[in-house]
Amino acid sequence: MQFIADMHTHTIASTHAYSTITENAAEAERKGIKILAMTDHCTSTPDSPHPWHFQNQKTLPRKICGVFIARGVEANLIDYEGNIDVSENMYSSLDWIIASYHHPACMPGTAVQHTNSYIKALENPRINCLGHTDTPDFAYDIREVCVACREYGKAMELNVSRIRDPENPLNQRSYEFYRKLLGICAEEGTNIVVDSDSHFWDTIGSFERAAELIEEVKFPHELVLSLDERRMKDFIVRHRQRNIFE
Ligand SMILES: [Zn+2]
Ligand SMILES: [Zn+2]
Repeated sequence: MQFIADMHTHTIASTHAYSTITENAAEAERKGIKILAMTDHCTSTPDSPHPWHFQNQKTLPRKICGVFIARGVEANLIDYEGNIDVSENMYSSLDWIIASYHHPACMPGTAVQHTNSYIKALENPRINCLGHTDTPDFAYDIREVCVACREYGKAMELNVSRIRDPENPLNQRSYEFYRKLLGICAEEGTNIVVDSDSHFWDTIGSFERAAELIEEVKFPHELVLSLDERRMKDFIVRHRQRNIFE
């Protein structure tokens, strides 16, 4: 199973991550990854960079080490209405937007509130996918959200950082969560992206556990955008409304 994209990765711009974009791109190249999104935390978490970090990604070359760099952000869902901390003037600089819940940016509510919020976020034409929805405090109705995700042409994330260690009980719990999520995505025809959520270069494009899970549940490969360069590019361009690959 050759993955061609890693669309959720952090650099030293998020203060709890430890690699540069160049180190990440070099590892991506070694792993056969063609598209790498740099998605540092948006501004409402304490470890995030200044807004200029996001607006100034245009100064990066489009390719580093032969790998296409998508200018991204891991946005914070800041309420239960699907709002994120990406300002209007940041949107135009970004190719790829993940929406995630993180404790400091929003305290957990009820499953009904999280479900509502995820669906409203998916309505936002510029949000590409929902990040690490396995967080137990932010439980939601998986089927309702997967249906909305398909309807709005978005993707759910299989976040490999949450399942990497088979000995870790939290990772075991997340593995069970993703087994369930993939089952529902397969039934509903919802696309997924497989992401490392890397905070150090060595895990970029390191997707063995995701491959195991995909095989185990016989998840249809045609729903895995990260396995198909053409479909992944089309997906990015459709939401970006600009062909950044030309
Ligand atoms: Zn996150
Ligand atoms: Zn992350």
